[in-house]
Amino acid sequence: MNSSAMSVDQAPGVASAPVASDAGEHDPILGTYKRPPTEMVRGEGVYLFDREGNRYLDFVSGIAVNALGYGDPGLREALHAASDGLVHTSNLYRTAPAESLARKLVERSFASRVFFCNSGGEANEAAFKFARRWARTMGEDKAHIVALRGAFHGRLFGTLAATDRPAYRLPFRPLAGEISIVERDLNDIAAALDETTAAAVIAEPVQGEGGVRVLDHGFLRELRALTKERKAALILDEIQCGLGRTGTFFAHEQAGIEPDILTVAKPLAGGLPMGAVLVTEEIASAIKPGDHGTTFGGGPFVASVASYVVDRLADPALLAHVSETGAWFGAQLQEIAQRTGRIRGVRGVGFMWGMDVMGTASHVVSEAMAAGLLTCTAGEYTVRLLPPLVATRDELAEGLAVLEKVL
Ligand SMILES: *Cc1c(COP(=O)(O)O)cnc(C)c1O
Repeated sequence: MNSSAMSVDQAPGVASAPVASDAGEHDPILGTYKRPPTEMVRGEGVYLFDREGNRYLDFVSGIAVNALGYGDPGLREALHAASDGLVHTSNLYRTAPAESLARKLVERSFASRVFFCNSGGEANEAAFKFARRWARTMGEDKAHIVALRGAFHGRLFGTLAATDRPAYRLPFRPLAGEISIVERDLNDIAAALDETTAAAVIAEPVQGEGGVRVLDHGFLRELRALTKERKAALILDEIQCGLGRTGTFFAHEQAGIEPDILTVAKPLAGGLPMGAVLVTEEIASAIKPGDHGTTFGGGPFVASVASYVVDRLADPALLAHVSETGAWFGAQLQEIAQRTGRIRGVRGVGFMWGMDVMGTASHVVSEAMAAGLLTCTAGEYTVRLLPPLVATRDELAEGLAVLEKVL
C-alpha cells in the first residue's frame, strides 16, 4: 500500500478522535453493509487516508457525493459561514437560504418550483406523490408508475418498488402498488402506459447502480414524446448522474429534452444530506398545502452550503473539464480493456464509468483497494468509477495505472 508522508497521529483533528475498529470489539453499527475493517480518518483533495496512514486515491467520492473532493477551501468556508446563521427552523416559516438555492436551481433548469428533502430516496418518494397528485386531476385511475429494467431509485417502500434488484425487493414484499418495472424498450413502455391509468415514467438518464448504462438520447426523446401523449409525467432521476457528473449541469440537457419532474441529491450539499425535487409550473399547480412535508428538508444551514456547491458545479469551466477529461478517461479505459483482455465492456460518460470485468466486481474492488485505489461495484460484474469532478488528468492517470496493474 501507499503510505502518506504525514503519519496520522500528527494530522490535526485526528489524534484525539475516537477509534472505531478496536480489535475484536463488537461492531455496534447494524450490518446493512458488508465492508472492510479499514477506518477512514481524513481526506485531502482526491485522497482518503485510513487510521494506519495508508493513502487511497478515491474513485468512489462517497458514491458521487464528494464532487469537490476532500477539504475544498471554499466548501470549508461555506460551512463555517452557514454555522453563523440559523441551523434549523422547520418548514413552518420561510428562510432566505432555501429560497435563494431554489432560485438558482430554477434559473438553471426547466423547473418553476423546488421541494427540498434529505436524501435521494426521499426525493423520489416525493416525485411519485407529486406525479400522482397531478395525474389524478385528469382521472381517478391515473396512478400507475413505470420504472425501467436496471433501475435504482432507492430503498424506501415506494422507491423500492421501482428498483430492479430482486435481492433488495423480495424480502420486503408486499411493496407499494401500481408501480411496475418494464424493459428499456419503447414498445414495452407504450404497452404499459394506458392513458387512463398512467401517472408517470421514471428513468435515470444514466443508470448508476444498475451497471452504469447511458440511456440513448433518441430513446429519451421518444420517451418524452410518449409520456406527453399518454398524459403521464416524465420523472428523471439525476440523483447520481446530475449536477455536473456527465459534463453538463443536468444529464438530460445532452438529449435536448425537459422532464416534468427532476430529482437530484448526492452531491447537492457537499456531503451534507439533501435532496431536491424540481417541478414544472403545471405539476406545481396541482400541489396544495398538506400534500407533502418534511421536518428537516431545506433547512437554512444545509441550504446555504448547497448554494455554494451549486455555484461550483454549474461553473462552465468545471463542466468543460468533466466533459473533455471524461471522454479521455473513457478512451483510456477502452485501451486498458484491449491491453489486458480482462474487461468485457466499458460504458459511461463524463466522470461516471462502469466496466464489466471477468470474475466478480467485488474481487476487483478489494484488490484495487489493497493497491491504494477506491472503486465500487454496480451489480455483480460491473466495477463503477466515480472520481471527484475536480480530479485532474494526472490524478485520473494514476488511478488508471493501478487499475491496469490489478486487472
Ligand atoms: C443513490 C441513489 C438513490 C437513492 O438515494 P439515497 O440518498 O441513498 O436515498 C436514488 N436514485 C439514484 C439514481 C441513486 O443513485
